[in-house]
Formats: sequence, structure tokens, C-alpha cells
Amino acid sequence: MHESSHDHLTGLPSRTRFVEQLELALAGWRQRPQDRFAILFMDVDGIREVNETRGRFVGDALLQEIAEATGSCVRAGDLLARVAGDEFAILMRGPTSDGEAVTVAELVQRALSGGFRIRGEVVPVSVSIGIAFPERRDHSALDLLRNAATAMYRAKSAGRGRHAMFASAPSRKSLDMGQLEAELRMAVERDTIGQHYQPIFELPGRRVIGFEALARWQHQDRGLLDPREFIPLAEETGLIAGLDAAALRRACAFAASLPIPADGAAPFVAANISNRLLGESLLVESVTSALEATGLDPERLVLEIREGTVMDDGAAANLRHLRVLGVRVCIDDFGAGHASLSYLHKLPVDAIKIDRSFTRQLLNGSDHMNALQAIADLAARLGITVIAEGVETQAQLQQMEWLGLTAVQGFLFSPPVAAGIAATLLAAGDGQVPVAASTT
Ligand code: C2E
Ligand code: MG
Ligand code: MG
Repeated sequence: MHESSHDHLTGLPSRTRFVEQLELALAGWRQRPQDRFAILFMDVDGIREVNETRGRFVGDALLQEIAEATGSCVRAGDLLARVAGDEFAILMRGPTSDGEAVTVAELVQRALSGGFRIRGEVVPVSVSIGIAFPERRDHSALDLLRNAATAMYRAKSAGRGRHAMFASAPSRKSLDMGQLEAELRMAVERDTIGQHYQPIFELPGRRVIGFEALARWQHQDRGLLDPREFIPLAEETGLIAGLDAAALRRACAFAASLPIPADGAAPFVAANISNRLLGESLLVESVTSALEATGLDPERLVLEIREGTVMDDGAAANLRHLRVLGVRVCIDDFGAGHASLSYLHKLPVDAIKIDRSFTRQLLNGSDHMNALQAIADLAARLGITVIAEGVETQAQLQQMEWLGLTAVQGFLFSPPVAAGIAATLLAAGDGQVPVAASTT
């Protein structure tokens, strides 16, 4: 086996070898343009998180498993290579249709979907895949790889575990992610990523008790972007640390600026924290500096962390530390995936937020109702607040009230709004609910 032509860890051909073979395929295609080959560019979602939370050994073993499972999905004669740390590429030689390329992408995603058992633990995994075909005679192998990588970034920014086809005529959506990354970097550096605030209403009184801060990016060409369009990119590129630190400061400043209602119950602000930061000591620094800079009472700050987060010791220690300061912790998107009631016993948690998908399914079956009842009962016993997210209808609201939940949030009451409007909702939110049901 050639040192430079193969990768030690997985035994797969290396990037050098892949590019050589791609050049050959391109040369063949220039002769017979009707025989299009395809390349699939595949990036492991969140490998850094795996390395950081479970250790390098597990990360490496995971890459080996991925290599093997992916290898079983490619057609005979096709070439699978490891082209960078967590990047793989597949060359589908000979005449290949769009449909065949998509089928292989789907096969790979399905083959990986169960995760892998490593050192006795199941490690979940997903990959984002970009697909590209040769288009121009003057394109080099690297041009083609770049196209496939661009499609891969687009897939990733749409959410993990997806695939996308490169589209040469740049539509509004298929922009160059390299450019988007540069723009995001600048927006974070200049602190121009803004926030909207969605009110949270207490039950049964239906009074505004707090707000969730949600990132909004006013992009010069693309308009107001919602977080699903840029948070995954921020997480992949490491920009998330700066983004969330700024979001924390902004959220605290917003809460500190709110008038305190006559009854004296000061509204809280909930800030979303990326899983990436949970184990970092930087998290504690970001929170304390945001509180100091704005003078906000720590008890008025809630940190929303995503359910399913791998809770390593560092993360748990951070959360405990922050709770000693008075900051509260809420598990977001509860019930969306790895919901486990045992979480509630183990984690230092003050509140849980029931995921929108769960809220939506409540009417469809009593299973969900029973599950939510069990969650609500356990939470009540543990002194944990339960908030329902994504409440859109009166029927859903009534169910939440019937279940005895603590609070609700959703379009029935109000979408996320700009800071100025949020402050007026606070003044008006005294039982006159639903406030915004008729405003859209
Ligand atoms: P999330 O924390 O679960 O936030 C709730 C999302 O549901 C928001 O989407 C909100 O606009 C939407 N929503 C609220 N009520 C309803 C409803 O009744 N129906 C429907 N269909 N949707 C509703 P948004 O603002 O797009 O945020 C998406 C996600 O991005 C958030 O989900 C959160 O996980 C993340 N995020 C937002 N801001 C930040 C941030 O500053 N930092 C980090 N790390 N993540 C953020
Ligand atoms: Mg949230
Ligand atoms: Mg949520």
C-alpha cells in the first residue's frame, strides 16, 4: 500500500489518489460528454463534538465505521476516498444519472442512521452530502470538488443529515457558502446579529412572565435570516462561541431595559446556548460578563440547552456553577428526540420546554397526552417548570391548561417580535390573551 495514496486510519484511498482518478474521469467525460459521472462529497456532522465530548479514540473509531458502512453502499467500480479529516468523497464512474447519485446518497445516510456501537456505547452520527456532475470542459478536478463541497454546505445549513445537488445557475438559495461564512464572521465580529423576542405566558393567568431571545440576521442580499439558516454554519466554523456570547449580552441588556410590572414580578429572558459551548469554561465567562455588563439579576436569565446534548462532566459542572450564581437552566426541545425522563433526575435543571412537534401531535393520539401527563407529573414533583412551545391553536392551549403546565409560548399568543414591540406586549399581557392571534 502506498504511503501517500492511502489513508492510515481507514485504509481508504487518499485525497491525492481521489483527485488523480477524478482527473482521469474528467478526461474521459470530455471525450464522451453524454456519459456523465458524479461525485458525492460527504462531511460528518459534528465530528468535533464527538472528539471533544467522547474523546479522540471514539472519533477515530467512528470514522472507521463510517468508512466501512459507506463502502458497502457504493457500486462496484466506484471509488470511495477519505479526502480530509472528516470528509469523504465518492466518484461514481461511467454514465450516472441524477437519480442514481441521489440513491447512493440516501443509501449512505440510511446505512449510518443507527449510529455505531463504540466501546459499548451507541454513538449517533449523520453526514451531509453534496452531489456534483461535470458541467464545463474547462473545469478541473478541484473545481468539481468545490462544487460538490458547496452543495454539501447547503445541505448542512438546511439541517444535518441531508444531501443536496449542486446547481450551477446560482439561485437565491444556492449561494456560495464560503461567502456566507465570511459574511457571518464579519457580522459576529461587528456584533450586528440581532434578536427577536417571543413572549412566554404563565398558565392559567396568561400573563407575560418572560421572553425567549431568538437570533435574527439582517443579511444585505437575502433579507432577514432565521437561525436555522446560519446557526449550523456558525457551529461548524466555530463562530458560535462569539455569536452566543453576543446573544447573551444582547438578551441580558433587553431584559434589563424592561419596565418591572407593578406586581413586582420581573420578566426573565431565555437565551439559547449551543451544545458546542456547554462544556467550555468560556460559557461561564460569557454569562458572567453579560450579567456584569448589563447589571441584570442572574435570576432573570434562563439558559436554554438542547435536549439530547451529551452531558459530559465539564458541561454538568458548568451548569452547576451557573446555577449557584442564580442563573436558571431549561432543557429545550424536550420530547423531540432522545427524550428521557431520567434526564430530569440527573441534570441540574429548572425547567423543560416541550418541543413543538410534540405539541402538534397532542390532538392525534392519547399516547402523547399520556406521555406529557407523565412528564408534567414528574416535573411537578421535582419542582421543575414545564413550558409548552409552539402552541398555535386554542385547542392546544386548552390541553396545556388541562394538563396543568406552567407556561406556554407560540404563535397563538405572539410570534417573536422586535424589542420595542415586546416591551408593549409586556405592558398589555395581563390576561388579554391571545394578544397576537388576530394580528397576522
Ligand atoms: P427554539 O429554541 O426551539 O426556538 C423556538 C423556535 O420556534 C423559534 O424559531 C420560534 O420562532 C419558533 N416558534 C415559536 N412559536 C411557534 C409556533 O407557534 N409555531 C411554529 N411553527 N414555530 C414557532 P427560530 O427563531 O427560527 O429559532 C430556531 C432555533 O434556532 C431555536 O429553536 C434555537 O434552537 C436556535 N437559536 C435561536 N437563536 C439562537 C442563538 O442566539 N444561539 C443559538 N445557539 N441558537 C439559537
Ligand atoms: Mg429555545
Ligand atoms: Mg425549542
